[in-house]
Amino acid sequence: MLKEDSKKNMACSRVSGPDISFVVAEHLCHSCGTCAGVCGNHAIEMHLSSFGVYVPVINEELCTHCGLCVRVCPGYGFDYHKQYCRIHGSLPEHAILGAYLSGYVGYTTDREVLHRSQSGGFVSTLLIQCIEKGLADGAIVTRWRQDSPLEPESYIAKEREQILAATGSKYNPVPASRMIRNILNEPGRFVFVGTPCQIHGMRKAEEDFPELSEKIFLYSGLSMLRESIRETVSMILNRAAPIRTQKIMVQPNEYSN
Ligand SMILES: Cc1cc2nc3c(=O)[nH]c(=O)nc-3n(C[C@H](O)[C@H](O)[C@H](O)COP(=O)(O)OP(=O)(O)OC[C@H]3O[C@@H](n4cnc5c(N)ncnc54)[C@H](O)[C@@H]3O)c2cc1C
Ligand code: SF4
Ligand code: SF4
Repeated sequence: MLKEDSKKNMACSRVSGPDISFVVAEHLCHSCGTCAGVCGNHAIEMHLSSFGVYVPVINEELCTHCGLCVRVCPGYGFDYHKQYCRIHGSLPEHAILGAYLSGYVGYTTDREVLHRSQSGGFVSTLLIQCIEKGLADGAIVTRWRQDSPLEPESYIAKEREQILAATGSKYNPVPASRMIRNILNEPGRFVFVGTPCQIHGMRKAEEDFPELSEKIFLYSGLSMLRESIRETVSMILNRAAPIRTQKIMVQPNEYSN
């Protein structure tokens, strides 16, 4: 019953009343942490479940059932059309790739970043450059906890060493969007590094917290390319029609020359 309701309401972002318990109960939660990041009553904490994923747990004594956590929850639903129009003014030309000006393949020439990064170090170098050139005051990144190395923790990095401490992908559900309160309370503008579900939560939260869009200078999305590889490759081949394509490498084994 709830599953049907959830499907029916995929395009709905204005609800009130319920809290996000039903999202967890219906296995729709992907641990983004947005609900914990927005709750002004601090009623939500992200706990590790017995399956090893983070789930929101509500403190009923603090919850006023205002419905905010449901409104921002991307597990409950994400209206692509509405969000695209809100952010870009119109729908994208390509449904899967989204809005883009152009595409490039690249890797960093900063050798320290290159050797510590996951896939060429573009993201970490972008963050360092944004901070060093004064475009951003910091970045929301995720590292492994020093006291518990299998647990990820997100934080605001403001200098090179703090960016370097977070290089590499954490192939885990990470509640990075619970950083919303920290972002709102910290002076300055930031880059948010995150997976699609985390960024969906952030984008939904922007509707209730317009100042969030001002504070996030840039979203640096971590692509989950394999999910749409067939569509992506066919689109690249169509665009590159005049060029005779011999080989496509999704992730080259090495980036250094
Ligand atoms: C869960 C997950 C799944 C992915 N799946 C694919 C895939 O299927 N195909 C593909 O081509 N690429 C995938 N990626 C992206 C890829 O692993 C690299 O993150 C991306 O190519 C950037 O590489 P880089 O060397 O520039 O990043 P780096 O310079 O190493 O920087 C990585 C940045 O990502 C942040 N980060 C790491 N893990 C997380 C996390 N879980 N949540 C939020 N922030 C995080 C770090 O804080 C750091 O700032 C995935 C990434 C993640 C996190
Ligand atoms: S906002 Fe994120 S963490 Fe909270 S219930 Fe929804 S999907 Fe789960
Ligand atoms: S319903 Fe409101 S008060 Fe209750 S957990 Fe959600 S955001 Fe917090």
